[in-house]
Amino acid sequence: KRYEELAELDKKHFFHPSTSFKLQKEQGPGLVFTEGKGVYLKDVRGKEYIDSLSSLWNVNIGHGRAELGEAAAEQIKKLAFSSTFAGNSHESVIQLAAKVAELAPGDLNYTFFTSGGSESNDTAFKTARYYWKMKGRPSKKKIISRTKSYHGVSVGASAATGLAPFRDFPSLAPDFHYVDSSIEAIKEMIEREGAETIAAIISEPVQGSGGVNLPPQNFFKELRDICDQNEILLIVDEVINGFYRTGTNFGIDNFGIVPDIMCIAKGISSGYAPIGGMIITDRLKEELTDLTDGVFMHGYTYSGHPMCSAVALKNLELIEQEKLNENVNLMGAELLKGFQYLQQTHGGIGNIRQIGLLGAFEFFKDEESKTRYDEPFAPKVVAEALNNGMIARAIVYEGQDTLAFAPPFCITKEEVEKMISIVDQSISAAKNKA
Ligand code: PLP
Repeated sequence: KRYEELAELDKKHFFHPSTSFKLQKEQGPGLVFTEGKGVYLKDVRGKEYIDSLSSLWNVNIGHGRAELGEAAAEQIKKLAFSSTFAGNSHESVIQLAAKVAELAPGDLNYTFFTSGGSESNDTAFKTARYYWKMKGRPSKKKIISRTKSYHGVSVGASAATGLAPFRDFPSLAPDFHYVDSSIEAIKEMIEREGAETIAAIISEPVQGSGGVNLPPQNFFKELRDICDQNEILLIVDEVINGFYRTGTNFGIDNFGIVPDIMCIAKGISSGYAPIGGMIITDRLKEELTDLTDGVFMHGYTYSGHPMCSAVALKNLELIEQEKLNENVNLMGAELLKGFQYLQQTHGGIGNIRQIGLLGAFEFFKDEESKTRYDEPFAPKVVAEALNNGMIARAIVYEGQDTLAFAPPFCITKEEVEKMISIVDQSISAAKNKA
């Protein structure tokens, strides 16, 4: 009854993100969630689901942490809001900026805050272009990103997104170019476009929405060199990878380089508050300070929001205190074992990858010849998994047929096994129906 009432209002009034208009009109909302605890979400009908992707790769600490609610309430009661424009500040944002600097590699010590990943990437693009302009080289304005990349949906961030479906809107931002994920292709593009026209290259360390794709061997070391040789800024998008998702502080720590700019969001607050940021190196900060006497005219009302900052700080404190960051590698190994078990049990599973608590595998009609099913199989497994009590994520962009996993860091060995057992049953059920 409650569901029916809510569904009616939802259909009429709630314009959902990333949702089919037709499906929404015909069927109304999917699951209407009411509560969450650990790796579980519960819906209005009382059914429990394992949240195998930490919702949108973001609820890293797990659901239902009252301490984060308390941190939010405490901050709101004391100081709900104050501006950070024109050099003003408050304690929570100062402490959070210092904590981010402590965790970030190299001399990435200076953070601009936003409300999420898209804003962080937009801020990075504007900062990179502004930097070259201030250096008297305004022709350096192109931004290069990789195919299969996802950088968000603001006008700038969607223009930077390599996955084509996200760019199916007229007149996105100009001067964005996409390149295959090989060093040769990047060198060719720089040659073709001219280094004098390129401001920055942006890349996720491990691509998320594009299918959990690990970079080619030595990719980032070579990319760092190419950027230095050609005076191109390197922006790393840590929105999914950042804050321990891949088992290290940041995704880029796996690959031994320091970018000029790093973008963060999601895991910084485990989704308990909307907050993101752009971190720049001390070198870039010093240069910008020397180059400009004017004001950097870029800032969001909620840049450094007190409650969001307090929640993020508490989230990072709890993850460290409870050593959930160490659990990422332990449970990542269990996840990999699970994938291998599935591969042995069912035919047609391949391209297994896993780093920390980020993993995926692909379905094939015939794994040996890498022949795909006529119709993607992963969405059918996702539908079965939902019946069996798990929210799963299929990725079918660019001809893929992938099942992706990024469970909360609090997951136990038993819960990994339960997740794998649900996938096991769901694959069988989907095969039986085919
Ligand atoms: N960058 C990456 C790598 C992401 O995965 C996402 C979101 O999924 C974004 C940027 C955009 O972040 P937001 O949705 O918070 O704007």
